[in-house]
Amino acid sequence: MYLKGIELAGFKSFAKKSELEFGAPISSIVGPNGSGKSNVAEAFRFVLGEQSMKSMRTKRGEDLIWGGSQAVPRSNRASVKVTFDNSKRLLDLDFDEVEFERIVHRDGINEYKLNGSSVRLKDVIELLAGANIGSTGHHIISQGEADRILNANLRERREMIEDALGLKIFQYKKNESERKLERTAENIQQVHSLRREIAPHLKYLKKQVDRLEKSRQMRVELKERLHEYLKREEVYLSYKEEDISSRKETPNTKLKKLDEELSKARETLERASKEDVRGQEVLNIESELSNARKKRDELTREVGRLEGQIAFAERHVSAPVSSGSIPVSELAVLKENFEKSLSEVSDSEDVSTVRRVLTSVQKTLGTLIEKYSESKEEAGDKEELVSLKEKKVALDRELSAVEVKAEELNESYKKLQVDIEESKDEERGAEREVFRITALKRELESELRDISRDEEMLTRASAEFKQNLAEGIVLAGRAVLEYENFDIEPSTVIDEARDKQEDRRRTIEKIKIRLEEFGAGSGEDLMKEYKEVIERDEFLTREIDDLEKSAETLKELIHDLEDRLSSQFKEGIEKINSEFQHFFEILFGGGTAVLTVVKQQKRKKKDTDIEMSDEAGELGEEDSEEGIDISVNLPRKKIKSLEMLSGGERALTSISLLFAMSQVNPPPFLILDETDAALDEANSRKYSEMIKELSTKTQLILITHNRETMSSAGILYGVTMGADGVSKLLSVKFEEAVKVAK
Ligand code: ATP
Repeated sequence: MYLKGIELAGFKSFAKKSELEFGAPISSIVGPNGSGKSNVAEAFRFVLGEQSMKSMRTKRGEDLIWGGSQAVPRSNRASVKVTFDNSKRLLDLDFDEVEFERIVHRDGINEYKLNGSSVRLKDVIELLAGANIGSTGHHIISQGEADRILNANLRERREMIEDALGLKIFQYKKNESERKLERTAENIQQVHSLRREIAPHLKYLKKQVDRLEKSRQMRVELKERLHEYLKREEVYLSYKEEDISSRKETPNTKLKKLDEELSKARETLERASKEDVRGQEVLNIESELSNARKKRDELTREVGRLEGQIAFAERHVSAPVSSGSIPVSELAVLKENFEKSLSEVSDSEDVSTVRRVLTSVQKTLGTLIEKYSESKEEAGDKEELVSLKEKKVALDRELSAVEVKAEELNESYKKLQVDIEESKDEERGAEREVFRITALKRELESELRDISRDEEMLTRASAEFKQNLAEGIVLAGRAVLEYENFDIEPSTVIDEARDKQEDRRRTIEKIKIRLEEFGAGSGEDLMKEYKEVIERDEFLTREIDDLEKSAETLKELIHDLEDRLSSQFKEGIEKINSEFQHFFEILFGGGTAVLTVVKQQKRKKKDTDIEMSDEAGELGEEDSEEGIDISVNLPRKKIKSLEMLSGGERALTSISLLFAMSQVNPPPFLILDETDAALDEANSRKYSEMIKELSTKTQLILITHNRETMSSAGILYGVTMGADGVSKLLSVKFEEAVKVAK
């Protein structure tokens, strides 16, 4: 026995707290019509979580509360408590006694309590389902509801039987699992759509990260290429620098020397050109010479004429003249002539001049002697002769002076000409020298220009080197400076064609341009974001995975539950059938009664059901569901359908089925409200026997007017209602009960 008692307070007609204790396998509640017996059955429904107002014969929750009478004011709340003996752990709770309580307030609010603690309705239903106290209420048969199972449709019947068989808990779990599966599917969709939402961003980030990686690789490549390039360039530049400075040295010294030579040559040239003024000197000498010659010729002619006069005079003077004395004045003139001639020759080294002068002196002396040797008569002639001869001496002297002068001029002229010729030679030589030096200088200058071009190139290359290094550091980091460590044999650099290095430079330029296109920046933020989004995506993927796993588990569970439901249902039907047949035979004295499982079109499915179904093949099966059909054959009667049964026959059939169901999977208690109302005396007896049999497995609460039924009860309660409209309970003896009942 599990049901210990029930307590009603403010529930329907039970205005005051009323308690019933069920200390026997069969308890009966008896009382006159309208006293409140059925309200007790409804109190059971109520406390066990009934949600259908109709099955509690009311419309609103408020109607369940004592409505008040003239004598007793209305209540604000109705409460029912039911107590179970849980020492056998009928309910899955670690308490020996479990008390359920439900309270309804006037505002329609319900409270549920389990051993005094507030719980949810769901908890109540779940706990009861585990104890085979199902929500279809198969364990509470209300008044006039005995044949409910006959009136029910195939599906309802199936549900009632499932409930009776204790399969509700599986059904409940299945529904719960299906709901979970539905939610899981929704979650999967949601997570999928979250993934889809971030997918484009992730794709974009991935692309950026790939670019970043590419640019990182390019930086490494740039760095390595720069190491080689810069090292080579450095070696090349320092070699070039040395080379240029050494190349410059020789031409510079040569040029310096040439400049000296050139300035000398130019000086020479200048000097020589200055000497050209001697041309005038030549002309002067020439004119002087010509004058001297003219004078000489004149004098020569004059001398000739004088000589003729002298010769004539001499012939006049025939006799030689005796020696006389020579006047001193004559001697003074002679002396003067001598001195003159002497001065003429004293400077001359020329012998001919000396000779000529001496000859003239000799002539003068001769003339003087001749003159003073003459006779007086001849003195006059002689005097003239002397005068002529004196004139001639003077002319001779003049002539010889002119001749000397002409000679001298001639000498100077010749010397001058030689000088001029020499000077011209020197000028030409200097000219040639200037020409030669200038040509050499030009060569050297061109060589130096080449070098200077090389130098400019070197300066440019040097600047370029620095720029490349600086840019390299910007793009590939300070590690570029490690180019110094790049190992290379200088000779390989020097011997290499320059265009190869140029090729290297171009390659580096290309990488730089690409790197610049990629944009600078370490991409730290990008990497952080990428990592976050990846993590989020991975999290979502894991989430989907987990959800799919749990969906799979749920499907398996549902499948398992369906299997169990189906096999236990079939088993249960078989067992019920045999009990059904047994009770049917007892009540009808023969005949057959059988439940058959039939397939019928399934009621409209929920959308989610379709969504949940993975295998398309299942749909066909899912479209139909199993229902329960009842076929009976009464002895000696031809019955084609249940509808053809009489009221009593219907009651007997449903009692057989009800009892069969209770036999197979006995509920902890069964409340039967006037189920026996339609039975005649003979059947009442049979019914009473069946009840006794049933009570060995299930605790029974019977609301009855039937004497036979009452007789089988161990405890009898009487319900009465006075003028105040309040139901009252009292424990009664069988005899009293019979009286109250009637
Ligand atoms: P019968 O033997 O005819 O089936 P019964 O003993 O089963 O009768 P019930 O149907 O349980 O009687 O009781 C009905 C009585 O309960 C009615 O008199 C009704 O007025 C009373 N009742 C129902 N609800 C309330 C309520 N909320 N407040 C007061 N009285 C109520």
